[in-house]
Amino acid sequence: MYLVIRYIAYVGLGVHIICVPLFFVLGVPVLAVFNIFSSVAWFVGYLANRRNNHALAITLLTTEVVAHTIVAVYCVGWHAGFQNYLMAAISFTMFNRALKTKLIVLECIGIGALYCALYALSIRAPNPTLAPALLETLYYANAVVTFAALAMMTYFFRQASARAEQRIKELADTDPLTQLPNRRKIEELLETERLRCERSGRPFFLVLADIDHFKTINDSHGHDCGDAVLRRVASVMRRTVRKIDIVGRWGGEEFLIVLPEISLEHAIEVVERLRRGIEAAYLDFAGTRHSVTVTFGMTRYDQDRPLELCVKQADDALYRGKQQGRNTVIVVEPA
Ligand code: GH3
Ligand code: MG
Ligand code: MG
Repeated sequence: MYLVIRYIAYVGLGVHIICVPLFFVLGVPVLAVFNIFSSVAWFVGYLANRRNNHALAITLLTTEVVAHTIVAVYCVGWHAGFQNYLMAAISFTMFNRALKTKLIVLECIGIGALYCALYALSIRAPNPTLAPALLETLYYANAVVTFAALAMMTYFFRQASARAEQRIKELADTDPLTQLPNRRKIEELLETERLRCERSGRPFFLVLADIDHFKTINDSHGHDCGDAVLRRVASVMRRTVRKIDIVGRWGGEEFLIVLPEISLEHAIEVVERLRRGIEAAYLDFAGTRHSVTVTFGMTRYDQDRPLELCVKQADDALYRGKQQGRNTVIVVEPA
């Protein structure tokens, strides 16, 4: 919003300043003087925008465009093409988020009605002031500026909607606590890995990780401390794995890790490095130092098994790790 008003204000200010001497020279002093007021209005709108008062800026500038159009059509007639700015005003006023949609719609209907009224009143009126060639030149100039303004605004709409879509996608894919991919996203990434494995025939490793005795952290030090520990574990995991590996929050205090393009031996190395990294890491929270350990269950995915079975197998391995005393890596080879 800030950007669109700023760039439109540059255009508006420039055009109105040029119009002041132009209409003096062309012998239309009323329009020349009006353009002085218009320039001031655009400058004030520009400043209001800089102070983040976007709604005021848009209202002021839309009002200016409407008033300027009425005066210009009155002074130099329909054939100078000043009424075209009303079309750009409709796009511009859409950026005004302070106005309810109903009001915006009413405003647009009003602008459309004004366009028709100006046409009805001016189309047959003789033009006393400007020569036809001059009117034609003015028409082209106004058409160019109107199209440029419309193109600029539409471009910003496009940018804003693409950015909003991107942001929504990020939010839908990310676990807000750890900033890791959430379960929904992880399932999507797993499916991509599965398809890749199907094509290339190269397996990947799937690891489930569960923080040991996490409940006692919550119970003894509070939920906020538990959250901080989860964030810490997530950050150690993210920076320990390779760039092509995937780490996501599977749920609660469980994480899912995907290790593609790797041998069993190296996969175990990576997971052992993770285990040791988390064991060595600590977190100072409310004056107490906390550290946790994690148990890992790991298996290989190859084409012949459904993914769910593979996840289940990693979960079984994890369960065995818990039974064997935790803080360990258990690997099960597919049957
Ligand atoms: P184990 O070693 O067998 O895994 O024991 P555990 O205590 O880690 O496992 P349990 O399943 O008994 O407890 C997990 C706890 O994790 C219970 C739940 O309240 C807590 N938890 C799950 N999600 C969150 C979260 O987002 N924040 C916090 N602070 N705690 C969470
Ligand atoms: Mg658990
Ligand atoms: Mg646990």
